[in-house]
Amino acid sequence: MTRSTAIVTGAARGIGLATTDLFLAEGRRVVMVDRDADELAAVAEARTNVLPVTCDVSDPAAVAAMAEAALTDLGEVHALVNNAGVADFGPIDDCSFDTWRRVMATNLDGVFLCSQALAPALKAAKGAVVNIASISGLRASTLRVAYGTSKAAVIHLTQQQAAEWGEHGVRVNCVCPGPVRTKLAMAVHTQDIIDAYHDAIPLNRYGSEREIAEVIAFLCSDRASYVTGQHIAADGGFESTGVGLP
Ligand code: NAD
Repeated sequence: MTRSTAIVTGAARGIGLATTDLFLAEGRRVVMVDRDADELAAVAEARTNVLPVTCDVSDPAAVAAMAEAALTDLGEVHALVNNAGVADFGPIDDCSFDTWRRVMATNLDGVFLCSQALAPALKAAKGAVVNIASISGLRASTLRVAYGTSKAAVIHLTQQQAAEWGEHGVRVNCVCPGPVRTKLAMAVHTQDIIDAYHDAIPLNRYGSEREIAEVIAFLCSDRASYVTGQHIAADGGFESTGVGLP
């Protein structure tokens, strides 16, 4: 059974937008959260049964206001998808502290802040949380030190949340996508990287936004009612091969 409300961060495009569309198709009302006000307004206008909320998930005051607006609109929060993310692409020797903080602020602080702000509502509704990490959080690369470290932390934060909130009936899981042709990925995936992924992934292709959203929707649904504290790679088999990340 699918309960009827959800909050998705980073919902203006990419995996967050695909997740929003899948939730809408399931009959949920969705609060779409993004810091890009223009892009969010455009996609929200083209959909029904959504509330767009402009919010930078790394800003505690903005997250508190978002949580209040979401709860007022939805009444109950049955699912929270912490999907907003940014990437750095460079080795540790070239990573400035500003870059490190910028990536941590959205990818890690954002998950912490949104989850904490919505915890009372999630407990009241016995809701589900899905945090979006990455295969970069499971396997080191020479290209993305801040990104990979932030995503590894998100996997651990997922386990913390599951351990602490299980007694309240809140399930918390994590999805680790492989490469998907979104704006975030294609800003940095050169042809060499694309070719390397093609060879290293057993299914020999990138995933689609919809394929990641399907896993998120499953974990948010009551079909996953005995699954919590897990991270699941949706990556065409990449993680199972032991081949290094490009
Ligand atoms: P995307 O760039 O298409 O979408 C990310 C969205 O998050 C954008 O709409 C952006 O405006 C929003 N956002 C960024 N920072 C924000 C902030 N501080 N507050 C609010 N909104 C913010 O990227 P995507 O590929 O769809 O990424 C979604 C998630 O999937 C991210 O967490 C990313 O790390 C993860 N992921 C993506 C890939 C991939 O190959 N695309 C692989 C593994 C993991």
